Amino acid sequence: MIDYIVVGLGLAGITFCETLARHGRSFAVVDDDSQQASKVAGGLYNPVVLKRFNPVWMAGEQLEFALPFYKELEDKLAVKLLYPSRIKRRFATIDEQNQWFEASDHPRLKNVLLQQLQANTNPKIAAPYGFGIVQQSGRLDTSLLIARYAELLRKQGQLIRESFFFDELQILAEGVQYKQLKARRIVFATGFGLVQNPYFNYLPIQGSKGEYVRIYCPDLQETEILKGAFFVLPEGNDEYLVGATYSWNDLENTPTAKARQELIEKLDRILNCDYKLIGQQAGIRPTVTDRKPLVGRHPVHNDLYVLNGFGSRGVMIGPWAADLLYRNIEAGDPLPAEIDLSRFKKKYFEAGQARRGS
Ligand SMILES: Cc1cc2nc3c(=O)[nH]c(=O)nc-3n(C[C@H](O)[C@H](O)[C@H](O)COP(=O)(O)OP(=O)(O)OC[C@H]3O[C@@H](n4cnc5c(N)ncnc54)[C@H](O)[C@@H]3O)c2cc1C
Repeated sequence: MIDYIVVGLGLAGITFCETLARHGRSFAVVDDDSQQASKVAGGLYNPVVLKRFNPVWMAGEQLEFALPFYKELEDKLAVKLLYPSRIKRRFATIDEQNQWFEASDHPRLKNVLLQQLQANTNPKIAAPYGFGIVQQSGRLDTSLLIARYAELLRKQGQLIRESFFFDELQILAEGVQYKQLKARRIVFATGFGLVQNPYFNYLPIQGSKGEYVRIYCPDLQETEILKGAFFVLPEGNDEYLVGATYSWNDLENTPTAKARQELIEKLDRILNCDYKLIGQQAGIRPTVTDRKPLVGRHPVHNDLYVLNGFGSRGVMIGPWAADLLYRNIEAGDPLPAEIDLSRFKKKYFEAGQARRGS
């Protein structure tokens, strides 16, 4: 019997698997590539909400955990994954500049937002009110992380490339059995795929579709992350990712003409140069109604767990939440109430009553 089956190999699955590996636990992963959020993510981490300049929930704690975690993964996988970078927040109005000054006095943002504004020196960008500079931010190369981690697991015989068939899951007196595989526990880290999970589909996951376009723009010559209506992320070789959109209606992973148009229209308002559209990508963020992660144990089945609900901040939340889940399972440490999925316990029993027609 192995210690864990993990279903899903996005940011949630990888951060949990790596936590298991670091504690010497045995595990196998089932993944079918049906969700794309982690693969297409911009990979940004930053401790401030860039719309109204508020601190991100638990950002300090999460970053303190996440950055060394990914650094250790860089060494283990022998690949560069982290790209620290400042973010240039473009001001649309004088009013925004004033909000910035106010926010930069906030005790949690003092070392994050530079007090002094930066004038625009790039003639290819329209930014008459200049920029505010965010520090302690950067990017994680999520698609490379997934590719390399999957490769490592494949070599170690720990990766099963298939859709998880719920009919094949048996709940034993102790542990679970999936096909031939017996494990002490199973952790579902399936992102928006959670909606298909008969054990956990009572949880209020909404999903929000996000899309990026990729442009080739040799005249722009920008090396720092730019944030106007959308992010403009330098990718090297004069390529940039522009996005991401938010949509709650269409929950397919396919890129749309509507998002492309929205991104191009807004990009055209801030760029004074030609560019070529060279790609587009889409994924579904696993967003919860209360915008907090979903972590913890099934209301009745003691060996079934979930790690999910990372919304638009999987890079920062992943290592921190994976550690909390691990310590909860193995040492009985309580989960913070805000992320513990037991906050939705009532929904589980209501859904059960509805199923039974009572
Ligand atoms: C366009 C876009 C941009 C984003 N940008 C950022 C960003 O800059 N920074 C940031 O922190 N976050 C960003 N996010 C959010 C981030 O991507 C998510 O928070 C995170 O990737 C969620 O990870 P996950 O592992 O929970 O889900 P996913 O990445 O969706 O992974 C779930 C995995 O489970 C597998 N799976 C699902 N169902 C099954 C099944 N039945 N059987 C087998 N396998 C299954 C899927 O194939 C997938 O591999 C972005 C998201 C999008 C869509």
